Amino acid sequence: MGLTDKGLHPEIFDDYRIETVDPNWLQERVKPKRHIGLTPELCILCRACEDVCPWECIFMMSPGIIKEAENTEVMTLATTANAVFVIDDNECTRCSICVERCPSDALWLGRVDN
Ligand code: SF4
Ligand code: SF4
Repeated sequence: MGLTDKGLHPEIFDDYRIETVDPNWLQERVKPKRHIGLTPELCILCRACEDVCPWECIFMMSPGIIKEAENTEVMTLATTANAVFVIDDNECTRCSICVERCPSDALWLGRVDN
């Protein structure tokens, strides 16, 4: 893995298309009504979550991939972040292995509200 920004940050992916997950679609799935959450202040960009995921469906992406957002607040957050995390919800089984692996407790398992 290469380093960028004078060695401060790891090299991250920049070839992914982000789409908002439809909450109604999420409610209809047979999967547990759970989702993976991230507390960005705790993340140390170690990529262990990507490495450990059995279904390879969590990605640490470059914020540069974001071309537009639903509102300016989201766009500001996205463009000032060190990285953007994407979970492919079609593949994620909510197994929580990434949550257990995260060394800084940045990831957590949340419940989808009814
Ligand atoms: S909960 Fe499991 S399947 Fe989903 S991103 Fe984490 S490790 Fe991967
Ligand atoms: S394992 Fe935790 S600290 Fe490491 S990149 Fe993933 S969310 Fe960030």
